[in-house]
Amino acid sequence: MAADFEKAKNIAARIIKRYGLNRPPVDPEKIAENEGIKVYYAKLSEEIEDKVSGYFDPLRETNIGKGAIIINVNISPARKIFTIAHELGHVLLHHDIRNENRITSVQYRTDNWDRGNKPAIEQEADVFATHLLMPSKWIKKYYEMSKDVGEKPTPEKLSQLFGVSTESMRYRFKSMNLKYNLIY
Ligand SMILES: [Zn+2]
Repeated sequence: MAADFEKAKNIAARIIKRYGLNRPPVDPEKIAENEGIKVYYAKLSEEIEDKVSGYFDPLRETNIGKGAIIINVNISPARKIFTIAHELGHVLLHHDIRNENRITSVQYRTDNWDRGNKPAIEQEADVFATHLLMPSKWIKKYYEMSKDVGEKPTPEKLSQLFGVSTESMRYRFKSMNLKYNLIY
């Protein structure tokens, strides 16, 4: 199955609009809970805690509905936010996972997937998370704003504003062809 990135981007944009969001940072936990999906932070079992940053449990009954996102308590705040957004992407894009007895997991180490070999649904969830947390319009706005006040718009600076990792923001800059100096 080919990955449908346009659908992932459109649904992220729809969520931004539906919740009336207009500036970073986006709180994906709040959105998940509004969608009836509870977020839990837990110590994962030893054999997976170094590999998995979180997963969606479609069968978990909670006080707000059915389905829960379980986040590895030992990962960085930025990684937690991205993982919640990624799992929310599965919930919103891959409707069948809510009804199936299947648990999807995020791989903590990206090198667990061979380059180009990452399953389509994982790529789609990543694109959803990227566009939910870092909408192009907002990135452009803050990029230009930094320049206007005479600052270098670096991924480091924007990553703090957006609550994402510097690495995620670097990818975002690259995909949007935004330039920045590595040495300054
Ligand atoms: Zn996933």
